[in-house]
Amino acid sequence: MDLLVVGSGFFGLTIAERTASAGKRVVVIDRRSHIGGNAYSEAEPETGIEVHRYGAHLFHTSNETVWEYVNRFTTFTNYVHKVYSNFKGEVYPLPINLGTINQFFRAAYSPDEARALIAEQAGEFDTKSARNLEEKGISLIGRPLYEAFIRDYTEKQWQTPTTELPAEVISRLPVRYTYDNRYFNDTHEGLPTDGYTAWLERMADHPNIEVRLNTDFFDESQPLNKRAVVGTVPIVYTGPVDRYFDYAEGELGWRTLDFEQEVVPTGDFQGTSVMNYAGSEVPYTRIHEFRHFHPERDYPKDKTVIMREFSRFASREDEPYYPVNTPEDRDRLLKYRELAAAEDRVLFGGRLGTYQYLDMHMAIGSALSMWSNKLSELL
Ligand code: FAD
Repeated sequence: MDLLVVGSGFFGLTIAERTASAGKRVVVIDRRSHIGGNAYSEAEPETGIEVHRYGAHLFHTSNETVWEYVNRFTTFTNYVHKVYSNFKGEVYPLPINLGTINQFFRAAYSPDEARALIAEQAGEFDTKSARNLEEKGISLIGRPLYEAFIRDYTEKQWQTPTTELPAEVISRLPVRYTYDNRYFNDTHEGLPTDGYTAWLERMADHPNIEVRLNTDFFDESQPLNKRAVVGTVPIVYTGPVDRYFDYAEGELGWRTLDFEQEVVPTGDFQGTSVMNYAGSEVPYTRIHEFRHFHPERDYPKDKTVIMREFSRFASREDEPYYPVNTPEDRDRLLKYRELAAAEDRVLFGGRLGTYQYLDMHMAIGSALSMWSNKLSELL
């Protein structure tokens, strides 16, 4: 083995694939029973509908290098993501756009009129001196839209009143003064034609790559554990950075998600793939309906799969999904980065290894950079 990769998500698999293609032998270990990290998907057994096991994943990128790279392993459908929000039993388009504004205010404002109205309503607070998330939100889009679409939804995500959340949690709230409600603005967008798992498996399908599942890097009963291998072989580690150092500088905070999946006896539950629930009358933040990600597929006409999503702070046993990123977290991260830099031939990557939210194209892009800038010379 020339390289050990800990974690078979997009970061780890990109590193493994590049290294294997350069003629080196790679072992990838993952503590889960499947490859692919959080992008993993599988067919729901009763309906055959592809379900994204760790939450809905939409691929989009404007990075041409990444786009060229990912197209080696999969083609993409022409799916374009759109999101709607149910507020008090009425459905509005998101992100907030002219359609949302005119529906909400029962008006027919022109772009200039809508811009002037929102600027006036936003004048209640100054963005720069906002003391909490609520004041910041109002200073960006005005109180009526903030209270309808942001406040309760954010409180469900953070289980904390927005008056107690720091203003930095949101940097901007996009408002579009057109009727365009395409969710992403990237040059390329789509879903892998044969599904995420087929794509991930093709990345790992190389004679120089060996994948070992159900294998935890910290489990000393298996041979490729941290104590046994650090210093003996180059390692790319994509697990949680605080766990690697046994939480020596304290735990980094994460939010996690709980998913409630249900097969519903109808051909179409909500008419779209993602419906947000803006208000506090239901405890979930959104409902995904997976059949709408692949309208081109021949799915059953009398059944559909939905998944309700709930958000909360993670404990050590939960799946870490989104960094909380408090000032204490950022201080701890700096200390972990120093420790990481001092490790002998261990590179830290991916969303867990660097404690940051990374979209798939970002994880792949940063793995490609690590390969060409740091790793190729280490091997
Ligand atoms: P991961 O996919 O998390 O992979 C890390 C792997 O390391 C895991 O398989 C884990 O089991 C393994 N591991 C951890 N510790 C150990 C250990 N001790 N021993 C062995 N293995 C270990 N991106 C988009 O582009 N579009 C989206 O719509 C999108 N939606 C998302 C929705 C949610 C809810 C979440 C959480 C993320 C979403 N993402 C999305 C981001 C996407 O999931 C990440 O970009 C991608 O997972 C990053 O890959 P990674 O390899 O860094 O991490």
